[in-house]
Formats: sequence, structure tokens, C-alpha cells
Amino acid sequence: MQLDHFINGAPVPGDLVLERRNPSDTRELVARFPDAGADVVDAAVVAASAAQPAWAAASPEVRADLLEAIATTLFARSAALGELLAREEGKTRAEGTGEVLRAARIFRYFAGEAIRLHGRTLASTRPGVEVRTHHESLGVVGLITPWNFPIAIPAWKAAPALAFGNTVVMKPAETAPAMASALAGIIAECGAPAGVFNLVLGAGGAGAALAAHSGVDGISFTGSQATGQKVVQSTAARRARVQLEMGGKNPLVVLADADLDRAVAIALDGGFFQTGQRCTASSRVIVEDAIHDEFVARLAQRACALNVGHALDPATQVGPANSEAQLARNLDYVGIATGEGGRLVCGGQRLEREHPGWYMAPSLIADTDPAMRINCEEVFGPVVSTIRVHDYDAALSVANAGDFGLSAGIVTNQHDRARHFRRNVRAGMVMVNLPTAGVDYHVPFGGVRGSSHGPREQGFAAFEFYTTMKTVYEAG
Ligand code: ADP
Repeated sequence: MQLDHFINGAPVPGDLVLERRNPSDTRELVARFPDAGADVVDAAVVAASAAQPAWAAASPEVRADLLEAIATTLFARSAALGELLAREEGKTRAEGTGEVLRAARIFRYFAGEAIRLHGRTLASTRPGVEVRTHHESLGVVGLITPWNFPIAIPAWKAAPALAFGNTVVMKPAETAPAMASALAGIIAECGAPAGVFNLVLGAGGAGAALAAHSGVDGISFTGSQATGQKVVQSTAARRARVQLEMGGKNPLVVLADADLDRAVAIALDGGFFQTGQRCTASSRVIVEDAIHDEFVARLAQRACALNVGHALDPATQVGPANSEAQLARNLDYVGIATGEGGRLVCGGQRLEREHPGWYMAPSLIADTDPAMRINCEEVFGPVVSTIRVHDYDAALSVANAGDFGLSAGIVTNQHDRARHFRRNVRAGMVMVNLPTAGVDYHVPFGGVRGSSHGPREQGFAAFEFYTTMKTVYEAG
């Protein structure tokens, strides 16, 4: 598959200098694609700027109809797109198809939001004066997206952007260009006017050029903390609006009263499903002393039994790492953790399969200390550590350590503990008796501290980033 940029309603070819291979079988070339330079990014921003006034002035019904058509098309093609997603990204076919359905539902949700956007009327303190607030589109938005949800994250940024009258330039991750390209094709096919949605393919430099472009009014970014920091610096210089999602080191607290089978199932899902490549993955499991050893033994037994293999094999439960670099990073962190005194209970090694791919055994490292690097830095792989604590207060304090604050979970049957945790844990999302990963598509998403910056994404909160507020005073 040869991919093009998509600018002003038409494909724009470039030198095919980049390629993406199937992480389940690296002999398979999934896509060849170009690397946008500043000139290509500029052409996309110019097209988006030209299209923006008419798109913002269009009836919300026009925008709702486009989003509804995109949703319908995604529903209809979920099987084929789910397979492409699995081939390109490495998550299982079921996970891939589920993600395409999520993207469809997101577009359908924001079709409704386009119509629902409303302001308020307030009483003025001055007789005869009326005061109202209006929400207007932000303008041209740049979307810089990661590879781990290669259609859901583009959807949850693009759908509200388009719903509220913005035009878009999207720069997807260089390890997931085919899904982004498929989405761009569907948006055009469903009738988006030229320039309303533009796609520039490429590596980090293309993202940097987009973030720095003076014609871009806002950047919504999901990726690493290091890149997020660069994006915020680049946008701050011209005071553009910015929204950053930068991952997590999400704690799952398991108290001694928990049903062990349930706690193990929750930790297994949050830690290892989708190869641990979720920013909400439970990578630190904090367990009360009384049940620690039994919990670790049972979790290790379940983790070892997970079937790691080709993403398209129906028997596979855990696909490969997304890339060679990600696999190397995962293995490095196992070495760092054991080097600092952690005990490798299971996994820790690369796996060989009949296809050459980036496979890794689900890995559990026990007896770690909260200050170890494995408990402070995001790994983004099937690598889970456990920390032993003597009571709930210690568990909460460990959960609150570190720089991140995306999702946090607790497994307990004690209502007062659950409520205390919900109120006192420093995280943007709290899960009681649920995995830290796995969120609804119609509610706000985001974290605190080093995990997130700017207004919340998704659900009823999404309009805050993608609109500006105007307060209107009117005398008769
Ligand atoms: P990850 O570690 O998850 O791959 P990155 O932060 O490296 O996260 O990448 C997330 C997105 O940011 C990708 O689309 C990537 O190409 C893009 N990107 C990388 N470097 C930069 C940069 N300096 N400025 C803007 N975007 C960038």
C-alpha cells in the first residue's frame, strides 16, 4: 500500500521514504509513505485556513450529517479496518475491530454534539441590557496522534474539531499511517468540503512543523512527555491553545479484603491486555501485605498462560510490541528493574514465534520499591511491577507518588476505603473494582500533573478545547 498526504480534498504524493511493517510478521510490508516537510505542512495549513470560515458558518446540521455519515461508514467497514489495524499496530483482530467500532460511536456521539452546542443567557445588572455567551470555533486545529489507538484517538480529536466548525490538519504517528489514511479517505468520501480535513504523513519533524505553524490556532497532542514538552514550548511562543495527553504510571491498589480472583482478573486486564500499550495500563500494582504473595502467585500464573502471538491468529490474546524500539525498551526496563533489586516472577524475555515479530512474554516483577525507575517511568509494554505495602494509608501514599496522574484503581469491598481513595488519589480518572484501562467513549478523559495539560478531551467536555467563548451585551 502506497500512501499519500491528503490536502485540500486531493491526495498529494511525496517520496516514499518511510515504511511500516507488520509487527506480527516483519516480512510483511503494510505501507510505504512520505515524510512531510515544512512546505507540505504549510500547504495543508493554508488549505485548512481557507476552508475554515465556510465550515464554521455552515449549519450545525451539515456538520452533524457529515459526522453521522463517517460513523455509518466506519460501522460498515469495521471488519476490514479492524484487520488493517491489527496488521499495522499489532493488537489482536478483536481489539482492532472493537477500536474501529469505538471510533464509529465517537463520530456518532459528536454528530449529536454538533447540534447540541449552546450558550447561555444571563440577567444583566443593567436594565434593558441582555447578556449571552456564544461558543465559536477555535479555527484551524493541528492533531498530533500516537500509534497505540490509531483510529480511536484520531476520532476523538477530529470528531469534536469538525463538529464545532474547526478545520483540521492531522499528523498521525509514523508507525500507524495506514489507519490515519483510511480515516482521511472516509472523511472525504462522506462529503467533507476540500480543506476541512487534511492529513500530513511523516515523522517527528512533520509534527514539529505543525506545532510551530503560525496558522494553527490550537494543537491537540497525545504522546510522550518529552514530545509534549516540546509541543507546549512551540505553541506557547505564539500563545496558541494546547491540549496534551502524555501517558501514565497508573497504580492499581489491591486491599486485603478483595476477592482475589476478581483482583487478579482486573490486574491482568489492566496490565497485559493490548500488550500493555495503553496510557491507562495498570503498570504498578500496590498490594496489601496479607495477600501479597498469594496475589503475585496467581497473577503470574494467569500472565504466563496468556497466549502471545500473531495479531490475526484467533487464539492470540496478546499481540506483539508495536516496534523493535518498543520491544527493546520493554526488555531494557526488565533489566533496570531486576538490576535495582526487583524479583522477576514471570516473563522478562523476547519470544520467538513462527513469524519474525516483536513478541515479548508478559512480565511480572515483584518486591519492587516505589522509588525504583520501573515505578516512576512509563514503559508502555507488557511489564507490570508489584509493590508490597502494610496498609491502606501506605498504599494511597505510594499511589500518589511520582509525576503522573492519569488513571488510578482500587480493588476492595470496603465502601469507606473506596470512597476515601476516590477523593484522595491524585488522578484524573478513578476506577473502583475495575481495571485502570478501558474507558467509555462518551465521557471526559484526562489526567492531572505530568499526564495531561489543558482542557479535558472527549464527551461533554470536548467543546472547551475546540471552541472559544464570546460574551455578547446587547441594549435595545
Ligand atoms: P510515542 O513515544 O508514544 O511514540 P511520541 O511523543 O514520540 O510518542 O510521538 C507521538 C506523536 O508525536 C507522533 O505522531 C510523533 O511523530 C509526534 N512527534 C514526535 N516528535 C515530535 C515533535 N518534536 N514535535 C511534534 N510532534 C512530534
